[in-house]
Amino acid sequence: MLMSPEITPGGYTPPERRLLGPGPSDISTRVLQALAKPTIGYLDPSFVGMMEELKALLRYSFQTRNALTFPVSGPGSAGMEMCFVNLVNPGDKVIVCRNGVFGGRMVENVERCGGIPVIVDDVWGTPVDPQKVADAFRQHPDACVLAFVHAETSTGALSDADTLCRIAREHDALTIVDTVTSLGGVPVLVDQWRADAVYSGSQKCLSCTPGLSPITFSERAVDTVKGRNRKSQSWFLDLNLLLGYWGETTRTYHHTAPTNSLYALHEALRVLQQEGLENAWARHRSNHLALKAGLAELGIEFVVAEDARLPQVNSIHIPGGLDDKQVRGALLQQHGIEIGAGLGALAGKIWRIGLMGYSSRVENVIACLNAMESVLM
Ligand code: PLP
Repeated sequence: MLMSPEITPGGYTPPERRLLGPGPSDISTRVLQALAKPTIGYLDPSFVGMMEELKALLRYSFQTRNALTFPVSGPGSAGMEMCFVNLVNPGDKVIVCRNGVFGGRMVENVERCGGIPVIVDDVWGTPVDPQKVADAFRQHPDACVLAFVHAETSTGALSDADTLCRIAREHDALTIVDTVTSLGGVPVLVDQWRADAVYSGSQKCLSCTPGLSPITFSERAVDTVKGRNRKSQSWFLDLNLLLGYWGETTRTYHHTAPTNSLYALHEALRVLQQEGLENAWARHRSNHLALKAGLAELGIEFVVAEDARLPQVNSIHIPGGLDDKQVRGALLQQHGIEIGAGLGALAGKIWRIGLMGYSSRVENVIACLNAMESVLM
């Protein structure tokens, strides 16, 4: 007898949810329908044409003219790793800013590449302090890369990418910038910042299915990758090999591209282009302000100071005497609303209400406030 598992009859149907956590965000029917279009070959001329549009749309989202701009087949963590494994060699000194969970992951990446991390710590919930970064460069003039997270999802703090990239350039260092949560929600201006290696995620303010990581490399970063005298430790993430598929001229097999997810990303980026970046940023801001006003009525306070607050990740203190898990459970079970828990040192102390991409809508703000009021009172 062959083994065969028992499966729910009728297949899996996910419950209806409002995704108001730190990602993934809600996905519009328009983008879900793009996902369901027939699969074609990833070297089909029609698909290759779509890839070119996808690259152009990503350049728009990142505000860059970088030729090397494409979606990595993997989640934001793959984009992060692609930057490190291609730009950090054993013995390289890398200044890493750590003001939350994801800065900590960058440190891990440097170590796994054999690099030497110089850690610049800031209190969780505050932005990266540019002065500390400048001091670190003065103490370590041989540092060749600066890595930081633009929008720290674990705390809801936004850092000043323009200033941080300028400091790195003054010391002739490359920059690796995490824009997983910022892209599409607040200005990400890659060319203006002159950032070198920037990665993001499909599932936050772009409101596409999880599992793709848009990435863009400056010419300087591409030259560094091409000039490597040792192979990157990762075969899958080695940019020198991937250029054959996503590059300008050739289209050769590297791995089987996730065609349908790429249709969905193409559509999600068309939605963003049609709305316009500036309108998308303004929408995130106005819905954040509406949420903020409602939370104030409930006596709930923000974790991050106003000038560094992300509109798409609203980190709030859990009011005294409330049980974190029980409240989040009630929001999910009684109201179909998912909000995020605190991570790491902030676990059990904060909640994170995400208003990202398609989730950033007035009706969601109202539903969230009503549900919180009924659960908290
Ligand atoms: N960087 C930041 C700032 C994130 O918020 C996340 C995910 O939440 C990641 C990296 C990792 O992305 P993923 O979970 O898609 O691998």
